[in-house]
Amino acid sequence: MTAKIIDGKGLAAKLRSDLGVNVSEFQASSGVQPHLAAVLVGEDPASAVYVRNKQRACEKTGINSTLHRLSKETTQDELLELITSLNNNASVNGILVQLPLPAHIDETTVLDAVAPLKDVDCFHPENVGLMVQGRPRYLPCTPAGCQRLIAEAGVETSGAHAVIVGRSEIVGKPMAMMLVQKGDVANATITVAHSRTKDLTEITRQADILIAAIGRPEMITAEMIKPGACVIDVGINRVGDKLVGDVAYEAALEVAGAITPVPGGVGPMTIAMLLENTLTAAKLQAQK
Ligand code: NDP
Repeated sequence: MTAKIIDGKGLAAKLRSDLGVNVSEFQASSGVQPHLAAVLVGEDPASAVYVRNKQRACEKTGINSTLHRLSKETTQDELLELITSLNNNASVNGILVQLPLPAHIDETTVLDAVAPLKDVDCFHPENVGLMVQGRPRYLPCTPAGCQRLIAEAGVETSGAHAVIVGRSEIVGKPMAMMLVQKGDVANATITVAHSRTKDLTEITRQADILIAAIGRPEMITAEMIKPGACVIDVGINRVGDKLVGDVAYEAALEVAGAITPVPGGVGPMTIAMLLENTLTAAKLQAQK
């Protein structure tokens, strides 16, 4: 078997193009250009690349983006002051705080300080709570991107067993909450695995849909995949000068029914979902 490759790059380009039309229609009717403010603290090169990619994607869709670059010595209070000023700035619709933050800053305190209506990453407890209750204001970007990729692959989720490896607040946990909802591209039976899980292979081999969000290069080997499964690889790991996922891609291609590549799978979709949330944020704020 050779798996169908789920083209996240292509799908994200299509979504951006549709979104560009929606952004200009919204701007024409409301006079508002959606605006995403990005906050980058420190000099982590990977974070700088992620922020640049997000800004470029904004430009392509007609969303205004501004970057607030702070030194790694910035104190938590200084960062919180910036967040407050962005919260109070009516021209800013979405606030993105690029993670990770330097060790002396408490991420939870900072993320909780973002106004819920401007929380386009869907990290604030109010937005997470709404999502868990099945009445989302925003969907968390990476899990939402995975869900769109599963839909794009034409994979039936209703009644399927989805195994998610990883339980982070950003990917694993919200992914589980989204796939278990009643609704489209959901209604799945969920198992969430993590570093304390016993017999991981026995569990992953039961997965009709396997989502790897671990951060360990090629940890999911072909033997861990049920033949014909849909495999969504969230991992981004730098190995030498190459980017690899959490799945051993070449071998997995021979077993899976469908699989996302790294790069070109989940990454571009995460950005597309951030842009969608920014337009939603601008619309919600225009109603106020
Ligand atoms: P975290 O480090 O926050 O979480 C990793 C999870 O994997 C944890 O729950 C951990 O378990 C689990 N884990 C670690 N080792 C094992 C193991 N041996 N067996 C089973 N589970 C294990 O990572 P993130 O969720 O933030 O990110 C995961 C990956 O996805 C990273 O490579 C990251 O770069 C990438 N990423 C990609 C994005 C994209 O847009 N494509 C967006 C966000 C992340 P425990 O909780 O017990 O420690």
